Amino acid sequence: MKVFKFGGASVNSTERIQQVGHILKSYQDEELLIVISAMGKTTNALEKVAESFYAGKKEEALQLFEAIKQNHLTIAKFLLVTTYNEALDQLVNFFTEVEWLLHDKPVQEFDYYYDQVVCIGELLSTVIVSAYLNEIGFANHWVDVRDIIRTDDNFRDANIDWRFTSERVENLVTPLLKEYKAIVTQGFIGSTDENESTTLGREGSDYTAAVFANLLNASGQYIWKDVEGVMSADPKEFSDAQLLRELNYDEVIEMAYYGAQVIHPKTIKPLQNKGIPLYVKCFLDKDLAGTVIHNKSLKGLPPIVVLKQNQALIQLHSKDFSFVGEKPVAELYQLLADIKIKPNLMQTGAVSIQICLDNHAEKLEKLAHAASDIFDVQVEKGLTLLTIRHYNEAILQKMVAGSKVELLQQTPETVQVVLKAV
Ligand code: ASP
Ligand code: MG
Repeated sequence: MKVFKFGGASVNSTERIQQVGHILKSYQDEELLIVISAMGKTTNALEKVAESFYAGKKEEALQLFEAIKQNHLTIAKFLLVTTYNEALDQLVNFFTEVEWLLHDKPVQEFDYYYDQVVCIGELLSTVIVSAYLNEIGFANHWVDVRDIIRTDDNFRDANIDWRFTSERVENLVTPLLKEYKAIVTQGFIGSTDENESTTLGREGSDYTAAVFANLLNASGQYIWKDVEGVMSADPKEFSDAQLLRELNYDEVIEMAYYGAQVIHPKTIKPLQNKGIPLYVKCFLDKDLAGTVIHNKSLKGLPPIVVLKQNQALIQLHSKDFSFVGEKPVAELYQLLADIKIKPNLMQTGAVSIQICLDNHAEKLEKLAHAASDIFDVQVEKGLTLLTIRHYNEAILQKMVAGSKVELLQQTPETVQVVLKAV
């Protein structure tokens, strides 16, 4: 069997949903578990609903939600004929769930409400797409993934209970797959043992698909995107970005770590553990080769460029110009851990330490303040972190031309440069 995942962009219009149907019909003979995201920017829109509600702006929250409802109803009306009434019943149930909640007053933490509201996006999209697929002759069974994926109650970043979930997959999903051959379900969401909805972190649908692939011993996971595959750089910024036909898991983890928005980083482990290949395919043209990511080692990869914007550089100088000894360094690492800062790059010198990190105003201020007990602190913002894997001198020179190099670190495999626009 195979696990497919279609992201929000592949179901953001009636034409695109029809295109999903077109792709799936060519996999008619396969056992498929199909994970579908919320349509387009629905998750962002639902986040706004949750925020308004929590800020006590009930009318605004209801209005914002009304727009989301109408959007889905319009798409359902356009796509569905024979299954319309049945789908409408299901949609209305989900609408009502949210509206009831919005009429309450918030008494719990924000993250709890966030999950109860935001999870609706994937439920609505899958109801519509599943019904549509049945109408066009791609028979499938809709599953509420909250009956399968059990999590803890760490709302907005819930952790999967693998034991419970794996039992559910075995006892519920496997028989349904045998019976219907194709299952349509949601990514990104789950539920606690008290039936509260949870979410797994933004962009978490890739991860859900990987969990299923792992537990069902899939022969492959296929992520359908609106790009050709994984590229060596962001094609929007670099016209000479090239398609990477083959990658391995370690390379993808590195790329994600440096800031490439290829695949949700949590996705890799469940696949790697079982050696399941991940295919990144283009849903605009299913016959394009795309990218395959596997466990094999690879030689001769081209330079891969990752840019991370909105970086800050903190410069710490030991106060009396004495050596930066082990004690201040230890204290600094402790500070980073306490404030939950993941440095993107760090360099230690004789009397100074430099740290490049995401420009997260609140955390930055905390760090600068706390570190000023031990060091003289300077902060520079508005920087870019350039990472090139498998670099050569020519591409490095080309990429830094026209900018000021604030910091540079290199290993035989990777070069990283903190750049300032001039
Ligand atoms: N709909 C969710 C999001 O936009 C999950 C996903 O698409 O992966 O973050
Ligand atoms: Mg997405």
